[in-house]
Amino acid sequence: MQHILYIGLLSFSLAFFCFSCYRRLGLVSVGTGDNRLDRPFARFWEMLVYAIGQKRVIKRPFGVNHSVIFWAFLVLVLANGEFLVAGVLPSLRFALLPEPIHSALLCAFDFCSLAALVAVAIAAIRRTVNPPFQGARSFEAFFILSMIAVLMLAYFGMHGAEIALGLAPAISAAPVSALFGKILGAGPLASVLPALPGIFWWAHAVVLLVFMNFLPYSKHMHILTAIPNVFLRSLDGTNCQGREEFIDGNSFGANSVDRLSWKDLLDSFSCTECGRCQDVCPAAATGKALNPRLMVHAIKENLLANGARKTLGGTPLIGAGEESCSEGALWNCTSCGACMEACPVFIEHLPKIVKMRRHLVQMDAKFPDELLNLFENMEQRSNPWGMAPSERSKWSSQLDLKPFEAGQTDYLLFVGCSGAFDARNKQVTVALTKVLDAANVSYGVLGKDEKCCGESLRRLGNEYLFDVMAKESVQQFQSKGVTKVITQCPHCYNTLKNDFRQYGLELEVVHHSEFLNGLIEKGALPLGPHLKEFGSVVMHDSCYLGRHNGIYDAPRDAIREVTGLPVNELDRNRENAFCCGAGGGRMWLEEHEGTPINRNRVKEALSKKPDTICVSCPFCMTMFEDGLKDFSGKAQVKDIAEIVAMGLTC
Ligand code: SF4
Ligand code: SF4
Repeated sequence: MQHILYIGLLSFSLAFFCFSCYRRLGLVSVGTGDNRLDRPFARFWEMLVYAIGQKRVIKRPFGVNHSVIFWAFLVLVLANGEFLVAGVLPSLRFALLPEPIHSALLCAFDFCSLAALVAVAIAAIRRTVNPPFQGARSFEAFFILSMIAVLMLAYFGMHGAEIALGLAPAISAAPVSALFGKILGAGPLASVLPALPGIFWWAHAVVLLVFMNFLPYSKHMHILTAIPNVFLRSLDGTNCQGREEFIDGNSFGANSVDRLSWKDLLDSFSCTECGRCQDVCPAAATGKALNPRLMVHAIKENLLANGARKTLGGTPLIGAGEESCSEGALWNCTSCGACMEACPVFIEHLPKIVKMRRHLVQMDAKFPDELLNLFENMEQRSNPWGMAPSERSKWSSQLDLKPFEAGQTDYLLFVGCSGAFDARNKQVTVALTKVLDAANVSYGVLGKDEKCCGESLRRLGNEYLFDVMAKESVQQFQSKGVTKVITQCPHCYNTLKNDFRQYGLELEVVHHSEFLNGLIEKGALPLGPHLKEFGSVVMHDSCYLGRHNGIYDAPRDAIREVTGLPVNELDRNRENAFCCGAGGGRMWLEEHEGTPINRNRVKEALSKKPDTICVSCPFCMTMFEDGLKDFSGKAQVKDIAEIVAMGLTC
């Protein structure tokens, strides 16, 4: 009778589980297409390293605890698989395997169950005492932890009672279960010992099946989706969004879930709600409306709500309430990529934000007032300040610079708008040319023919204007035969290297910090003795150079060569660096909410009592110089090119 009851329960549970997964995960298919099956071997390797190996999870101290639960689960899948099958076919057990293998499996199951039990207890204590974010003490979280704990206890109870009754021979292979057996045999339950294996078996079966069916309706859906989500992660740069097709009848950007890609929607089911993204987000950290965790959550809620009502456009994606992303929050993003770098399951926040910005700009013409000027200036004068193109080469009026000519000059020096128009950054450009000349580098410039690369436009969601400007620049580069580019701006670097590739232009782009460090390494620069003028130097990593393009060492190495000392690292450095606040087009927007991001970063830099703050990005230069005005102190801001130029003997 019990056997039939179990088979009925199991059949119903499996059918309901499949139905739930189909109903929920099937919603992902409303998303637009996105090829995530290219380079399968690279994907498989990343999955091994980051999903199975938990490389990102264990970066945080408490992540180790989560990884213990995960690894224990992987092993216990075998134990639970055997449990479910043996309930139907009692003879089909691991006991059929040769004794050494069977004993090894029992031992592994025993210790993994203990590890999982201890880890869930620690997780429950941590969530009670020091939750990762406000609201993390949810009923759901504790319910899941309790179910895992009961599963483990039922496992020990079942096997312990069998060992105590002499029904299970492998006592030495299952010491924890054996200990439980001793406790059961000596305690108040000793009188009902013969009934205990059956009671614990049923407790285990019921909790296991309830747990399985609860997953698709909880945040623990990530148990099913996280590993595939890592396999399907973007293998391209973290900050290069897809193109749009500008033909009549198309709509642009996303204000409903069916305008996001299926991967965006899978992301929303894969969120573990660990809160790491919101911890590192400069907008969230400075009191602004944007919270990347809640944005991902809103996409999931929107998908579920609209999917249930079968009205995909019913509740808009951008708006108020738990099922939508607030418009104001979308404009807070600096496109720094810290959220994506921190996320253990590789959720891609930034492309979603840009897609929603695209909708606001291109479909609704809704954007902060300051951007109107920017868009007009870009459209009419190809630079953010609306300066006349003839002004673009004024910075070099005292210099004898060559125009770029294929065959005559090797590199194009792409100056960028800040390097050409902004008073402070023009000094950096001059310093850079001084170093290039000292090493006899063959380079030329486009002069007044150079146009803005359009990076801010793309992140702000004005994809149409970016598309127009990108096509012009790509055509110009191709007609002039440009193949190798040096640039001092990480935003230009990212666009020329990553975005222009989508337009069929493959350039060898090198950031000036890499180029200058390469010259130093080759001995091509006449450097004098180590300079003491810069004193203690701290290094601020630009998001677009570091996180988005992986360049961290070049500026540090160059500083060490010039000053003779390593940089004094900020607390948040390299891939954990905190944004200056100017990316994502925020350079052109006022900060009306919370505290300014640059003040937060400048304060952190000043806590190291530096004499010099080294940057390698014109936007960072502006944000640091502005931020320093709010603090007393004598720290100076220098670009890496200025530091190297000062070290020259000529
Ligand atoms: S890209 Fe940066 S600013 Fe934008 S949501 Fe992520 S962490 Fe926040
Ligand atoms: S989006 Fe990623 S980092 Fe943020 S809460 Fe979810 S899993 Fe954690």
